[in-house]
Order: sequence, then structure tokens, then C-alpha cells
Amino acid sequence: MRAIRVHQHGGLDALAWEETADPVPGPTEVLVRVRACGVNHLDLWVRRGMPGHEFPLPLILGCDITGEVAEVGQSVTGISVGSRVLVAPGFGCGGCEPCSLGNDHLCRHYGIMGETRDGGYAPWVVVPHRLVLALPENLSFEEGAAFPLAFLTAWHMLVARAEVQPGELVLVHAAGSGVGSAAVQIARLLGARVLATAGTDAKLQHAAELGAEETINYEKVDFAKEVSRLTGKRGVDVVVEHVGEATWEGSVRCLAKGGRLVTCGATTGPTGNLHLPRLFFKSLSILGSTMGSRGELHRIVQLMEQRKLHPVVDRVLDLEDAREAHRILEDREAFGKIVLCPPS
Ligand SMILES: [Zn+2]
Repeated sequence: MRAIRVHQHGGLDALAWEETADPVPGPTEVLVRVRACGVNHLDLWVRRGMPGHEFPLPLILGCDITGEVAEVGQSVTGISVGSRVLVAPGFGCGGCEPCSLGNDHLCRHYGIMGETRDGGYAPWVVVPHRLVLALPENLSFEEGAAFPLAFLTAWHMLVARAEVQPGELVLVHAAGSGVGSAAVQIARLLGARVLATAGTDAKLQHAAELGAEETINYEKVDFAKEVSRLTGKRGVDVVVEHVGEATWEGSVRCLAKGGRLVTCGATTGPTGNLHLPRLFFKSLSILGSTMGSRGELHRIVQLMEQRKLHPVVDRVLDLEDAREAHRILEDREAFGKIVLCPPS
């Protein structure tokens, strides 16, 4: 088969569109004919490489996969050839204490498709059978590939970590990103009021359509001052932080007393200052979050099926245009997700 593979970390050129061996499922695995695969910031990190982190190169990227089951391993039951499926992006060992408690994302051996094993930038992918979920009939393959990682991340941040309550004020950074556009919707579903930031007025317009009550163009104004103005100097109850160095101090400053900052990423840099008296005098909480459990993903799929949450697809490209997809994501040109489709 022809797939997009990374042999050496680097720029866009590191994405090679090349012949690779057809994958063969083991006894507990499933072969999926890939129909669509979402592009995530994670893919950029894997392509570029991360200091101190080793990836199993060469590697086929891509963790948000939908398609049809083409073959099942001899020990797999309950999954039919031909069924429309969505692949959970991450997987634990299945047997340890966190896995047994349903917190597979806290498993010491947690892996992610396209990061720790070959993913979906390919026409075929082999996945552990436990990752296969039914794709609701009313969702297209492209829609199904546009939400798992981003919505799972945002859901875990808002529901499990920050425990957002109805009526609370939530600031969502970079509302045009996958996590941001998910967080706006989830916070609204929880009954919270949303303030959203983005770098263009067009993205702010989209954020308002998703339910943001107030929008802030961070290119034009100091977002922390604007939050202070909009809230009458009170601040917000929760900040959804995934930007990192560029916004960190402002994000902490935005918090009301008892506020929670929840972070899942640091795309602009890994270091943030924290003024400790602000932390204790205002009784703030700083919460880290990464991925979420498979149970949470099931809930998200249900809400997608009920159209209470919506995948946000910016555009659909051919798989061989993966370099262009990465460029668009790096240049922050998208609102929502870019989805790649292999040739049918
Ligand atoms: Zn485990």
C-alpha cells in the first residue's frame, strides 16, 4: 500500500508518500480499510520529534481514524467485517490498576495510534480490537475522523479535571483549534458561559456560532485585560489552556477566586511562571490533563450521534496532500479539523 510515513524527524519534507508493506492483523487485532483520518497537533510533534522522546521510526502518523472493518484476527469476536467503525486514538495495557478502573489514559503503558504504532495516514491500518467503536450511521467518515482526540482531550479537561458547573464562566483559548472548538461546545453543553479567544475576526465569528458569548481577538487586545473588563474585574472560573508560554501568565491572571486553570498543551513553549501568592491567596487550582478514558470517548460518540456536539471540519484533503495539511495547521489557517482521505 501507499502511505505517509516519517523516517527521520524534520519539516514538511519528512512526510514521505511511499510504498509500504500491507499490514496484517494478529489474533487480537482488526484490519481497517481507512476512509478518513484527522490531522492533529500530535502529528506535528511526531513529525518534528521531541527532545527526550523516542518514536518508533519509521512510523505512519494519524490517530483519528474511521473506516470499515476488512478482516478480524482469529480471537476477535463481536466485530463484523464490513461494519463502519471509529478507532479510539489511545490504548492502555488493559490489565493494570488504572486500566481496570477505566482510567486507561493513566496506564503506564499507554500508547497512541500514529505515535507508538502505525496510524491512519494510510489506506489500511491494523488496530487492537479494543479500540474499535461503532461509527453512528448519521456521521460521515470525515466527521467521525474530525473529533476523537480533540473532543476526548477537551471533555476530560472540562468534565473530569475542571468539573465545570452550570453558570460558570469558562475562557477557551484558540477557539479555532481542534481542542478549542471542542471546548467551546462542551462548556456550553455543561451550561457554562464561554469567552473565547482567537487570532482572526473570522475565527471569532465561528466561535460565536459555536456558542461563545464573548470573543476576544488576541492579536488586537491584551486578552487578560479584556477578560477583566468583560467580567467587571471578577475573572473567569475556568481557563482552558493549551497554548503555553505565550498565554500562561495572562491565563493565571484571568482566574477568579477559586478558579481552575486546566492545561493540555504548550504549543508556544514549555515554561510558565507562576506568582505563588496569587496561587494561594486566590485559592487557585492548576490542573494538568492529557487524553481521556475510553468510557469518556463512548459518551462523546453518543452526544455526536444525538447532535448535541458537532464535529468541526475545516476541510478534507487527499491523503497524499498531508504536507499541505501540516502546513495549514502550522500556519493556523484552519478553523476546526483537517481530514485526510486515502484514495478509494
Ligand atoms: Zn494499563
